[in-house]
Amino acid sequence: MKLKELFVENRRKYLNLVRLRTGVKKENAKTCPVCQGECKLSVLEKNRYMCPDCGHLFPMPPRDRIRLICDANAFREIGKDLVSKDPLNFPEYAAKLSSLQAKTGSRDAMVTGVGLIRHMPAAIGVMDAGFMMGSMGTVVGEKISALTELAGKRGLPLILFTASGGARMQEGLFSLMQMAKTAAAVERFRQSGGLFISILTDPTCGGVSASFAFLGDIVLAEPEALICFAGPRVIEQTIGRKLPAGFQRAEFLQDHGMVDAIVSRRDQKALLGDLLRLHRQKGEKNLGGKGSGLRKSDKGKGTDKASH
Ligand SMILES: [Zn+2]
Repeated sequence: MKLKELFVENRRKYLNLVRLRTGVKKENAKTCPVCQGECKLSVLEKNRYMCPDCGHLFPMPPRDRIRLICDANAFREIGKDLVSKDPLNFPEYAAKLSSLQAKTGSRDAMVTGVGLIRHMPAAIGVMDAGFMMGSMGTVVGEKISALTELAGKRGLPLILFTASGGARMQEGLFSLMQMAKTAAAVERFRQSGGLFISILTDPTCGGVSASFAFLGDIVLAEPEALICFAGPRVIEQTIGRKLPAGFQRAEFLQDHGMVDAIVSRRDQKALLGDLLRLHRQKGEKNLGGKGSGLRKSDKGKGTDKASH
């Protein structure tokens, strides 16, 4: 074996030893589920929540995601104080909500608002996989519907980043109703000519994949994201067969025509900016160059400098 090969084989082990020596504390680090390396939170934050060793994408907190794609200080949050009424009085749900609210600084599993992406205004929603697995209950459903309606009223494109295990068990039927509510809101928006770009991140599952997530005019996905309705294990047990390699990953869905493009975190802002600009140019043409219902305060200043 050549010396180089020996090093490649043992690279992860050496890197972990270096980390141990430099004293990475567990509470300020996350273990990469792919290469088992310890990643410092501060390093992850700077690296778009991507493992510096193997490139695995960790879930991205919504406010970091907004910082990644929006222009500096160009995001205004909407519906920040919406909070679940715990409609079923589900055991321990209220306590769980309170503790997650304190930990994340959010009231529920979604952040919505209006922002600028490369000077182009858009209504933007980002789900939070770190808040009860991004599950969709009454608050998430209402936030998506309200944001979609706002986008329709103001002629703004709608951009939704999904990250969810599905409907929220603790809100039972009320959660399932959010599937119809969000899908109906998006359909009304689309029929009125609005542009909806859906970006599927890991994981996008259950009631979210089965409602608004795939209704985008353009459906994008992050590399290797798990995107499914039922998980692979459930399907294998049901049909009694082994599933093909990579089944339900973003690349597999793209190969089968379910996803338009896979976009790395590094390229998302530029691509979204380009799509918004193309759409706006088309909209203005259709309206005879008289604008597209945007508020003066949301309009860009015409330059195309990216902050990322
Ligand atoms: Zn890794």
